Amino acid sequence: MHSDDYDRLFLSPPHLGRHELNYVHKAIEDNWVAPAGPNLDGFERDLCQYVGTQHCVALSSGTAAIHLGLLLLGVGPGDEVLVPSFTFVATASPVRYVGAEPVFIDSETRTWNLCPQRLREALAERARRGKQAKAIIVVHLYGMPALLNEILELAAEYGVPVLEDAAEALGSRHHGQALGSFGDVAVLSFNGNKIITTSGGGALLTNNAEYARQARWLSTQAKDPAPYYQHSTLGYNYRLSNILAGIGRGQMELIEERVKRRREIFALYQELLRDVPAVQVGPAEPANTRSNRWLTTILLSPEHTERTPEDLRQHLETHNIESRPLWKPLHLQPLFAASAMYGGTVCEDLFTRGLCLPSGSSMTDAHVRRVVKALQAKL
Ligand SMILES: *Cc1c(COP(=O)(O)O)cnc(C)c1O
Repeated sequence: MHSDDYDRLFLSPPHLGRHELNYVHKAIEDNWVAPAGPNLDGFERDLCQYVGTQHCVALSSGTAAIHLGLLLLGVGPGDEVLVPSFTFVATASPVRYVGAEPVFIDSETRTWNLCPQRLREALAERARRGKQAKAIIVVHLYGMPALLNEILELAAEYGVPVLEDAAEALGSRHHGQALGSFGDVAVLSFNGNKIITTSGGGALLTNNAEYARQARWLSTQAKDPAPYYQHSTLGYNYRLSNILAGIGRGQMELIEERVKRRREIFALYQELLRDVPAVQVGPAEPANTRSNRWLTTILLSPEHTERTPEDLRQHLETHNIESRPLWKPLHLQPLFAASAMYGGTVCEDLFTRGLCLPSGSSMTDAHVRRVVKALQAKL
């Protein structure tokens, strides 16, 4: 390591503000650290208001929210769920938790998300066979809105409900409407590396009052309405604590600032790398969409450089800069080796050529310049 005189630049570290502690402090002062309480109610209200959904249930993780979301949509043993291959494993693991199987779908090249053509093939084939998929999961990778018009139209045409995995996309918009408000149920994550954090946490959003009621009940052990502890449904312990919700309330005061800064960081990378043909900063926003630019990603052009993303990652590491490969497609994972896949060349190409750069909202312009300088030295 020849540059360890620099501070380490992390990919996407937590970025706390000044008000989180006030909410946590109040919870401790009031001896209200658990269970549900005013911070939890307040955090859920903030999220509903910001995203524009009628109901929100704050949970212990985004993964827990996807699990409950699948249960609400009635997904169970023997069912199939259509899932993009190009995503984090937590999009698909809960499909297995409920005894169903993911069927993977390739990406399109504009937003890198669920490809509507491949989705149509999968839906049409299942319609012909007489057993339709039980749900579609749409993901907005790195904050970039998926091609929602096409995807929602197909879902409606085939009568399949949509679970929107907006874990990376709080603050992004599609035709002015916040992501997290498009699915029959939607999911957010407040893991430590996401655009806002509660250290660990998630939420389920919906406009369906019955889904919200069920999610609350399932997340707190599904007790029957009896004076004693009686249970006839399998429940879970998935509720977010009133303490962590306090961190979330402080973070929600800052969401627009955080999105603004991530977008500025993306724009600066783009400007500094504009004349470097080996690197595309990308993807561009389709018309009428706003990405929160959770992570800035680059693709290498093999015509202009022999370097691989792994060469660059190791080189950045010697400058004390953390970077990460793009998500390894799930159909290439040993865990899902036996699962069906529609297409695959698009997401495989993205994985082969792509890298995520440090993008945290606490980065300064000088930090971005330092990353670009280190990158250019190796291209
Ligand atoms: C982070 C993430 C999740 C899981 O959220 P956790 O809160 O970490 O459980 C799910 N899907 C995607 C796309 C994510 O990026």
